[in-house]
Amino acid sequence: MKFPSKLLKKAVPMLALSVAFSSGSAFAAERSQNLGIPQQIDSYQHRRVHIQLLGINDFHGQIDVTRKVGGRAVGRADYLAAYLKQRESENKNTLLVHAGDAVGASSPVSALLQDEPTIEILNTLGFDVGTVGNHEFDEGVDEMLRLIYGGTHPATGYFSGAKFPYVAANVIDKETGKPILPPYVIKKVNGIPIGFIGVALSDTPSIVTPSGVAGVEFTDEAEAINKAVAELKKQGVETIVVLAHNPGISNTDGSNASGEIVDIAKNVDDEVDVMFAGHNHSYLNAEVDGKLLVQSYSYGTAFSDVDLQIDPRTKDVVSKKAEIVTTYQDAIKPDKKIKRLIEKYEEKVAPIINQVIGTAKATITDEQNASGESALGNLIADAQRDAMKTDFAFMNPGGIRADIEQGEVIWGELYNVQPFSNQLVKMTLTGEQVRRLLNQQWQSNQTRMLQISGLKYTWDSKKPIGEKVVDIYLPDGTKLDPNAEYTVTVNSFLADGGDNFTVLTEGKNREVGPVDLDALINYIKKLPQPFDANIEGRIQKVS
Ligand SMILES: [Zn+2]
Repeated sequence: MKFPSKLLKKAVPMLALSVAFSSGSAFAAERSQNLGIPQQIDSYQHRRVHIQLLGINDFHGQIDVTRKVGGRAVGRADYLAAYLKQRESENKNTLLVHAGDAVGASSPVSALLQDEPTIEILNTLGFDVGTVGNHEFDEGVDEMLRLIYGGTHPATGYFSGAKFPYVAANVIDKETGKPILPPYVIKKVNGIPIGFIGVALSDTPSIVTPSGVAGVEFTDEAEAINKAVAELKKQGVETIVVLAHNPGISNTDGSNASGEIVDIAKNVDDEVDVMFAGHNHSYLNAEVDGKLLVQSYSYGTAFSDVDLQIDPRTKDVVSKKAEIVTTYQDAIKPDKKIKRLIEKYEEKVAPIINQVIGTAKATITDEQNASGESALGNLIADAQRDAMKTDFAFMNPGGIRADIEQGEVIWGELYNVQPFSNQLVKMTLTGEQVRRLLNQQWQSNQTRMLQISGLKYTWDSKKPIGEKVVDIYLPDGTKLDPNAEYTVTVNSFLADGGDNFTVLTEGKNREVGPVDLDALINYIKKLPQPFDANIEGRIQKVS
């Protein structure tokens, strides 16, 4: 198939990081020797139960995507599967777990089929338990629960759901006050009960479309974990594992562990033995406050192999160690069954993905000039304004995820540019609100330059936050009237106040339009071919 070679551009810096760290897989092996509490040599040693936990995080439906680590090909679900099965064959007491963001911002082969392919692959691999990250909420709670428990979607029909439980102790239904998923499950392995507690990132509402988390609230991770630990202890469970979609990072030798997961580890009951982290796509293999913390990058480029020695008399962990294993493709044969599954789904979506939409005269990038304008930003903002027939359009730069390469442009490439399937929203703002919106681009901790269509403006970097915008011009050269009303297009993420553009929540006369990707596709199809887009001076920094 023609499509899958193009990677999400924003993933590159993270990969560079993973190259730096994971070149030490020998390190990781060495580390795993040293990490555990030295085993006591006593007469009971032969009776210890050896349990293996294999974990992934932030898989993001990358079932067919190959990446590079240290110049070598890594990832794809069929290679990941082969590694997991190899490790499983070495220890029958193996459980497979994931720490969230298994789906969402996925490869088209999964995303076009509502991420059912990813869940089916996890089912086929025999995953035992997972938790929810922020991306599981991308399409709202109902769709998340449909993927977990089964149900019908207009695009894909009936799907039977995950064959393994999802746990989340801190995602609470606002109406009932109860968790929407079980806070924990108990898995019995060779006579040993193991408690698995899940927690989602409590910051989730600030990083997904507000409609995605409507009806639920996220409570403090450590409090939710401790409540679940107390319940598990009452039931005689001594071995406790937490799946947390919270970030953490360490050196490959386990030193310098930091991130939210470290803070949470220090605040949870010492009965917790292992915590799987996620969200920042990093390496983590460290012991903090007696808890073993692991994270294995992202996208199936690696997995965590946690080994526990458990005393069958006390049912508690006596030693533990972990290894973060990179899924190099040249060191194993891909799993045939999973390979066939990927091919089945690729065939299903190929006609859509390979459809030629237009021809780009030159490469169009989202690289911003010093004023904050990009050629690709202009193209996307123009497409959105055209789709909704409004005076202006504003596009958040974080929603532009890849460039358009010179030459034939296929559907799959445009999908990588706009992978979030946000719907467009038309609204009315006053000129004064437009000025406040533009001034919200500069916040105390971050600058986010909106890409714009239908207006021009100047800004002054020396002016204080909230007053940087100088003059705003309409296409006829006149100035924006603060008291006049203008129609505006943004995507649903921005319309709900995403990225702290709170002015947009004040917009009136709201009307929902097509998905952003469809607007871009339709616009490119209408342009004279070959098409191009350029920086035109829509945004001008005056000093
Ligand atoms: Zn995440």
